[in-house]
Amino acid sequence: MQQITILGATGSIGVSTLDVLARHPEKYSVYALTAHSKVDELAAQCLQFRPKRAVVGTAEAAARLSAILRERDVRCEVSYGEAALCEVAAEADTVMAAIVGAAGLAPTLAAARAGRKILLANKEALVLSGQLFMDAVSHSGAILLPIDSEHNAIFQSLPMAYDRQPVRAGVSKIVLTASGGPFLKRAVETLEDVTPDEACKHPNWSMGRKISVDSATMMNKGLEVIEAHWLFGASASQIDVVIHPQSVIHSMVSYVDGSVLAQLGNPDMRTPIAHALAFPERIASGVAQLDLTTMAALQFEKPDYQRFPCLALAFDALRAGGTAPALLNAANEVAVEAFLARRIGFRDIDRVVGRVMNENDHGAAGSIQAVMAQDAVARRAATAIIDALR
Ligand code: NAD
Ligand code: MG
Repeated sequence: MQQITILGATGSIGVSTLDVLARHPEKYSVYALTAHSKVDELAAQCLQFRPKRAVVGTAEAAARLSAILRERDVRCEVSYGEAALCEVAAEADTVMAAIVGAAGLAPTLAAARAGRKILLANKEALVLSGQLFMDAVSHSGAILLPIDSEHNAIFQSLPMAYDRQPVRAGVSKIVLTASGGPFLKRAVETLEDVTPDEACKHPNWSMGRKISVDSATMMNKGLEVIEAHWLFGASASQIDVVIHPQSVIHSMVSYVDGSVLAQLGNPDMRTPIAHALAFPERIASGVAQLDLTTMAALQFEKPDYQRFPCLALAFDALRAGGTAPALLNAANEVAVEAFLARRIGFRDIDRVVGRVMNENDHGAAGSIQAVMAQDAVARRAATAIIDALR
């Protein structure tokens, strides 16, 4: 029995993970579930999956969850806050890291330091602190498996040895596919006025609101370029982004001999989740088989950086190195939150991120403290720019 902690159990990835686990009760048991504020959802999950521990964001949320569970006679140790998140991340065999944003860094890093099997959805951990995180993984002997569909596809398309990170022998390019999001064909001038609901209406994937907005700006692909750099040891010039609106090919690896290997499937996160859970074996995920004969033509095009300036900003941050990606990520988190709260327009997101990048120095990413200090600088700068915009 593998014991699993799910960080961010009430989110889109968390719920998909529980769906896969429920299909294989003989293989997996739930050690801990965590959520920030959705106490009722977490209580329902605790009732069904009976974890030993549950973690929430605040003391009030913990009191409410304890009361609900006591009333239903569910035995579960309830706690709250970052230290408790780090504990449950370090205690299980396997950790699904699915908290959204920089908030996921500390517990994901705790799992890495404790040498756990880490199913990594929280791409921000690598964007913020790629070198530190990869060093922690190799020192402790943790097993790192990518959940992001593109990186999972690349992992599956690389030659690999069990229990080891993929080797890159003969690889010429990592090719990340991108759907282009809901605004791929919309007239660029009209993007100023799009609403949060329009931005979150992704054509192929159902995801949390933050990553959905990032898909509309293509900042998500930019963060994924940085994630791919750390996971697969590829430089910015070895990573290409190709728009593929159907989201059938989840990414590709090109080899020096002219071979291109790709992973295909229906766009459903349960596939990469099941792959990583069972790796190196395979288990059923509940996802329908891909039927290529019923499919329209598969299309590919180059990304337009005028339409998607956030993608260019992310490549700039990767090339700049150090804490530049932390600056990019934090500015983007603040800008997306302001957009979702209807405090700024859609195109203000790239303007805010661009200005924060231009107007602030970055340094070496030598410690988590340095990274988090840069994160704080970027949040303050982005907030000041947004306040002045309104
Ligand atoms: P979501 O918004 O649906 O869920 C986020 C989860 O994190 C929730 O359980 C929430 O309670 C928890 N959380 C939020 N803020 C927190 C905080 N400050 N402290 C502790 N917990 C907090 O997000 P999601 O779409 O499931 O995405 C989760 C992560 O997975 C993100 O990093 C995202 O980039 C990545 N990812 C998601 C998808 C997808 O299909 N949804 C695909 C690839 C990668
Ligand atoms: Mg992705």
